[in-house]
Amino acid sequence: MNRVLLATRNTKKLDELRRILDAAGIERLEVVGLADVPPFEEPVESAATFEGNALIKARDAVRATGLPAVADDSGLTVDALNGMPGVLSARWAGRHGDDDANLRLVLEQLGDVPDERRGAAFVCAAALVRPGGKEDVVVGRWEGSLTREPRGSHGFGYDPIFVPSGETRTSAELDPAEKDSISHRGRALRALVPYLTTLGD
Ligand code: IMP
Repeated sequence: MNRVLLATRNTKKLDELRRILDAAGIERLEVVGLADVPPFEEPVESAATFEGNALIKARDAVRATGLPAVADDSGLTVDALNGMPGVLSARWAGRHGDDDANLRLVLEQLGDVPDERRGAAFVCAAALVRPGGKEDVVVGRWEGSLTREPRGSHGFGYDPIFVPSGETRTSAELDPAEKDSISHRGRALRALVPYLTTLGD
């Protein structure tokens, strides 16, 4: 059995990658998380792109553990904000991880923006780095538009203000399995499967 480290403490992300590998019929790969390896100092996400941050996290995890590692980085890009908050999504209102303040600030910034210019996308980059140094990075996008008021209680982050293209519900009104099957993160992780199948070759 080969092991791959998903550089996260988020058990939902671990379960999602395991489900995706199961669905792809990959049985020889055990997915472990940061809670399963000796602790190491996690790097600052200082890159200007999602791909860059995913690579920083995956490279560091390989250096610390010697295991092949996958890391992801994601966020919301808003057309009317020229692609921001982008890599600053988690700290847009100033503090890291204040989801409510972040989405309120985006709604205020878009106060005068008409419906036809409220396009946005969730983006997720996923990087696979091997101990030998080989690196693969893929990107998943989930297109949609932004509401004027938050709706729904599932999910996290900007889900209550994001309506995926072709939907009337926000992503916080989708049930979690439904979101996983179409989200940026699901798309990126599925795009990584062909690379993951070559681990241990
Ligand atoms: P991370 O890559 O998991 O650290 O996410 C970065 C930030 O992007 C989060 O704090 C959220 O603000 C936002 N974000 C990423 N993915 C999602 C999502 O699926 N729904 C809502 N917000 C998201």
